[in-house]
Amino acid sequence: MRQPLIAGNWKMNGSKASIESLLEGIKQGMDSVQQAEVAVCAPFVYLQQVSESLKDTKIAYGAQNVSEQDNGAYTGEVSTTMLNDFACQYVIVGHSERRTLYGETDELVATKSAKAQADGLTPIICIGELLEEREAGNTEAVVARQLDAVINANGVASLENAVIAYEPVWAIGTGKTATPEQAQAVHAFIRGRIAEQDAAIADKVRILYGGSMKPANAEELVAQQDIDGGLIGGASLKAEDFLAICQAAK
Ligand code: PEP
Repeated sequence: MRQPLIAGNWKMNGSKASIESLLEGIKQGMDSVQQAEVAVCAPFVYLQQVSESLKDTKIAYGAQNVSEQDNGAYTGEVSTTMLNDFACQYVIVGHSERRTLYGETDELVATKSAKAQADGLTPIICIGELLEEREAGNTEAVVARQLDAVINANGVASLENAVIAYEPVWAIGTGKTATPEQAQAVHAFIRGRIAEQDAAIADKVRILYGGSMKPANAEELVAQQDIDGGLIGGASLKAEDFLAICQAAK
């Protein structure tokens, strides 16, 4: 049985004050979350605040990006060692915004994923197709290419300590959600591709859906056989909505 994971991706949003009230709201509602593991991925500068607020709770936390380098002259970058200083459990790698706005390649995403794992962090590896790629019938080819880059570089066994997030780019922040059937089809494809190399790992790895997941559609999405939770952007910024999604993940 794969425990569902609901992970919030706050992106570049929040302030000390808004994060304090968001975390208080989530903590207060956690009793109503029966089955899902809950995590939040915060901007780097708030990790100290998040780590203090979530101490002694069941809520995991992490970052939204990490450097593939150890340390040194990499202005503006943040290392795995730094994330470990704040006891992060998770780090998102290869989010489509990093791929499209900051030019992160499949190879770099694989390297970041390996670096995170080498230093004890669990990467949430994002893959997903653009609208034009879907319309051209290339969804499977794109997610296979992105997934294979990780498997070829790091080995299929690396997925034992990773989470995959399937995020169709056309559904992120647009209010357009993949239908449960569309999402399930791609999730099944991803799991099948991993199973070609290792059936046990394919069975175990959690594959999250991301793209305008909200209280109104979460239950139906997470009910699909191969959808093991969600990576939540916009709806993770409101405690009530985020908790409703967490409750829906059974
Ligand atoms: C995301 O940023 O990973 C995401 C899924 O965003 P949203 O839920 O806002 O579409």
